Amino acid sequence: MTVVRWAEGGSEVGVAERVLGRNGTSSGTAGGVREANAAAVLGAVRAYGPLSRAAVARHTSLSMPTVSRQIATLVDLGLLSESPSPTPTGEVGRPTVPVDLNDDVIAACGVHVGITTTTYGLSTLRGVLLDSVRMPTPHGSPEDVLEHIAREVGAFLAHWPERRIIGVGLAIGGQVDAERGLLDHGPLGWRAVPAAAIVESVTRLPVHLDGHVPAMATAELLFGEAVHARSALYVYAREMVGAAVAVDGVLHRGPGQSGSIAHLPVGGDVPCHCGRTGCLEVTVAERAVLERAVRAGVLTRPDFAALREAARSGDPAADAILADRARALGTAVALLRDIVNPELVVLGGQAFTDAPEQLPAVRQAYESATALPGGDILTMSRFGPDVQAMAACTGLLTHLYAHPFSILPPERSSRV
Ligand SMILES: [Zn+2]
Repeated sequence: MTVVRWAEGGSEVGVAERVLGRNGTSSGTAGGVREANAAAVLGAVRAYGPLSRAAVARHTSLSMPTVSRQIATLVDLGLLSESPSPTPTGEVGRPTVPVDLNDDVIAACGVHVGITTTTYGLSTLRGVLLDSVRMPTPHGSPEDVLEHIAREVGAFLAHWPERRIIGVGLAIGGQVDAERGLLDHGPLGWRAVPAAAIVESVTRLPVHLDGHVPAMATAELLFGEAVHARSALYVYAREMVGAAVAVDGVLHRGPGQSGSIAHLPVGGDVPCHCGRTGCLEVTVAERAVLERAVRAGVLTRPDFAALREAARSGDPAADAILADRARALGTAVALLRDIVNPELVVLGGQAFTDAPEQLPAVRQAYESATALPGGDILTMSRFGPDVQAMAACTGLLTHLYAHPFSILPPERSSRV
């Protein structure tokens, strides 16, 4: 009996060490081990649930007593729930009561500040967007802009008294120092803005700041098309462009500044502020595309729906502008795919989703530019036009899934 107990205890520590090692964090404390085990259980249920306790044990390599203890704690915290109807297994003995994510209690707020549009919303644990609101990004100093947005978000959250809101994920372009909550944003002219602290002071909720492209890639890893992919490349395009790479479910985050694909050469004659022509961002950014359409006399004012309508009703100049954008996007995706060689490529952002009739042209440009075989690996983000709001919520949810007790500390008397 003593040997069995030792084996069970050893199993809990051993798995936790593996989990901690994989996530690159180090915590030798018992709390760290228990939290890592809880995260492993939560992660298995998120990816494969509903699951029986035995299936959770199989997926996590944890012992049954550890699994049962963690499930009890996670149920107490409102993260998991037991299915109301036991699933008959055909086996003799107690019926199996599967556990699943509890989608009814916890919610994460997300705020995406774009150059022209700000989106905020509320997501369940499972990544279902309960509601989202769009507003024009206000003008003014960074403090004024963020305080204004945070007040709107506070009023929005007041409509959800039945939800336990764990905090605010703040996703934004530019260079993010997530650790110190600071933000540099060239297009908005912001330098070292304490963005997380400003939003925290208004909403009185913990704020998790992240770059918008890593946040979107994380949303795909948690809930989207990349859940089961061993390696995935995420490519985003709207006003800004970005890419992110994940291997074995872990997003690559380089040192210091995040990588940039803004000046990836995609051909064409669009001049870029860097002095060259044919850079990706300036060729595909919505504002730049609309400026070209106005200059060409296709539009009288910048309006993407009008440009799309003109192209659909046969205006060759409008069609050429959108076809150029599709070609540039497809070329960029092929260049990136050939460098990274992922199992899956996920495309997100309005440059892909706003004009679905252009997607065959994106795909054609990609297929003619990729040099690797087996190119049929492109998929669209499942979040469509909700990608910004969902990504912002997901930044916080990722944190919850990785470190559940740091966001929802169990009661001292509970069974951890
Ligand atoms: Zn450039």
